[in-house]
Amino acid sequence: MSDKETQASPSPPRRVVPVEDQPFWDALDAGNFVLARCTCGAYYARAQACLRCGADAQALTWVPASGRGTVRTFIVFDKPYHPYFKERTPYVVAVVALEEGPEITTNIVDTDVTNVAIGMPVRIVISTRGEHKIHQASARV
Ligand SMILES: [Zn+2]
Repeated sequence: MSDKETQASPSPPRRVVPVEDQPFWDALDAGNFVLARCTCGAYYARAQACLRCGADAQALTWVPASGRGTVRTFIVFDKPYHPYFKERTPYVVAVVALEEGPEITTNIVDTDVTNVAIGMPVRIVISTRGEHKIHQASARV
């Protein structure tokens, strides 16, 4: 390893996106937090058959989402499972129940990890990590 490689900050982990999720991530990279809405009113975070009315994924339309939600459950990561996060621990990985219905896994930011609680309100914010945008849930609602 060269000196340059040993001194460089580790890159964030690569994003791996299933085809069903691509529109969500393309919108996020453009700065928009979206959900897929079925004609029956159900929302999803990926293109999928509707669990409420049975319509297939082509019936869904990607629409802007509120970004409002609450913490359903969470865990505090106090050791890095990827070199990129070595200087970023501790951090919270949470399941956030969005106002529209879907749940997403994300980080809770803008508060100390000891302040995170189940049921706390959060709002989705978009930030940059490496070459992509990411969503995180801010405790500042
Ligand atoms: Zn439906």
